[in-house]
Amino acid sequence: MYKLLFLFLFSVLISCQLVKKDFPITEFQKKTNQFFEKIWSLDPLEASQVGNHKYSEKSSVKDTNYYEAYARLLSQSRSDFLKIERSKLSQDEIVDLDLLLNYIESSLWHIKTFKSHEWRPDYYNYGSHISTTLEASNLNENEKLKSLKSRLQKIDEYYLNAKKNIFKPTKEHTELAISQNKSLVLYIDSLKIKFKDEELLVSLDKAKDIVKSYVNFLVEVKNNPQKVGGFRSFRIGKKLYEQKFKFDINSDRTPLELYSIALKNKSEAINKMYEISQNLWEKYFSNEKKPKQKTDLIKKIISKVSLAHGKPEEFVEDVKKQVPHLVAYVNKKNLIYLDPSKPLKIRETPVYERGFAGASVDAPGFFDAGRETFYNVTPLGDMSPDEQESYLREYNKFTMQILNIHEAIPGHYTQLIYSNKNPSLVKKILGNGSMVEGWAVYSERMMIESGYAEGIPELELMYYKWFLRAVCNTIIDYSIHNLNWSKEKTVNFLIQEAFQEKAEADKKWKRATYSQVQLATYFAGFVDIYELRDKYKLKLGPEYNIKKFNEHFLSYGSASVKSIKSLMNLN
Ligand code: ZN
Ligand code: ZN
Repeated sequence: MYKLLFLFLFSVLISCQLVKKDFPITEFQKKTNQFFEKIWSLDPLEASQVGNHKYSEKSSVKDTNYYEAYARLLSQSRSDFLKIERSKLSQDEIVDLDLLLNYIESSLWHIKTFKSHEWRPDYYNYGSHISTTLEASNLNENEKLKSLKSRLQKIDEYYLNAKKNIFKPTKEHTELAISQNKSLVLYIDSLKIKFKDEELLVSLDKAKDIVKSYVNFLVEVKNNPQKVGGFRSFRIGKKLYEQKFKFDINSDRTPLELYSIALKNKSEAINKMYEISQNLWEKYFSNEKKPKQKTDLIKKIISKVSLAHGKPEEFVEDVKKQVPHLVAYVNKKNLIYLDPSKPLKIRETPVYERGFAGASVDAPGFFDAGRETFYNVTPLGDMSPDEQESYLREYNKFTMQILNIHEAIPGHYTQLIYSNKNPSLVKKILGNGSMVEGWAVYSERMMIESGYAEGIPELELMYYKWFLRAVCNTIIDYSIHNLNWSKEKTVNFLIQEAFQEKAEADKKWKRATYSQVQLATYFAGFVDIYELRDKYKLKLGPEYNIKKFNEHFLSYGSASVKSIKSLMNLN
């Protein structure tokens, strides 16, 4: 669910323009606003992705000049931010400052050390330049047309620079870029039907040829990698992995430490699943002998339990019907305050965002204040009957509840509502992904602990299967990049130890070859939050209750768990 996470990270960029006007802007906020404005003026795409279209007429070519200017800006800003006296900042601003400094360090590391703009040909894809313009809800039709035309004028320069930048790419990212840019050609074709403007149609045709020529270039690279220095391995290795882990997760733990915790959690989850499956054996297989192998027994029970699912045409409706039960449960158990004035709006995923079946929280960009936040659920109409059946078994009536907990109540949606009360631009733009995903994973466990699956062993079993996915994502990400795991070993591991279907395991392998560390963010955040809660419990003693912790924790916005820990004085 790479796309889902991706969408979600965008969705964290919620607007607070209106809120902000009620507060006087502090010196520090002025500095951070200026910093972002400078970044956006250098990087018009990033600007329009947060809903700021001021710079869309500017070139977005990232050549040597761009990287030099960008690095200069970052270094200068770093020394400016380091001069700020922490004692003069509010607690909230201290967190913002830490987020900013981490962002600056991380960006500098990306430019100077990691250099994925050289070895990831998929980095170059004009699709987002086009779609962020067309989908902006804060531009009218004329403005969109104007902005799109000027963007299309620069596509030639953009791909010329791409060809120049590519050096020792990975085979995997080259293939990914070929397939994604081929889809882009189709996307441009689809636009030609929508618009009547002559001038635009001509530029769209031209754009299509340019994208095709990039695809041809990459096909040549694939056949003869020597012309760009040969292929490199997609495995980034121990040293880079450790560095990327430090920036992306922003935790005190090392990758090896997290990996060890994941192994331990995996055995615990499997033992728990074994216990539940044994108790369910009579119910589902009264006449059969139990398999000797632990995992075989669990697998057989899972395959039976997965048959309890809804009808394909009712999938969206079923999600809609289930969510109010979660709201009622959270209120009854007093787990966290849910603002009744902000009920969750559930809708079918808009067509342009589909392509990946699933569900995700969809919130507007920072400058795009007018729009509401939605829980998008993709209907299954486009799937073949076989695909529908397999999808529904995966999201059976038990797992669907865990999905809703994760995405909506009290997971992502609830966190987002709390996060929006924190009127900081920095936290909205630079929110910590591991905290955000970690909260969703933590909220699943918190629901189970509070008795949500009481008397429904099937639900508890499916919860652990779901949890095991986050745990095993961490294990395989570490093992592939650090321990050289092969495709065969990875896929077998996921099928045997995480009870996944072959198709799911294959997809996961692919995703692990495209991304690094990202797969570990979910479990890393969970572990950090869980540990933090233990400390909080200890500190508060008899004063502790779960509601207090949850609300206190979420009140800091999407900061890293590490920052929240220090703000809660729990170091
Ligand atoms: Zn079925
Ligand atoms: Zn999530």
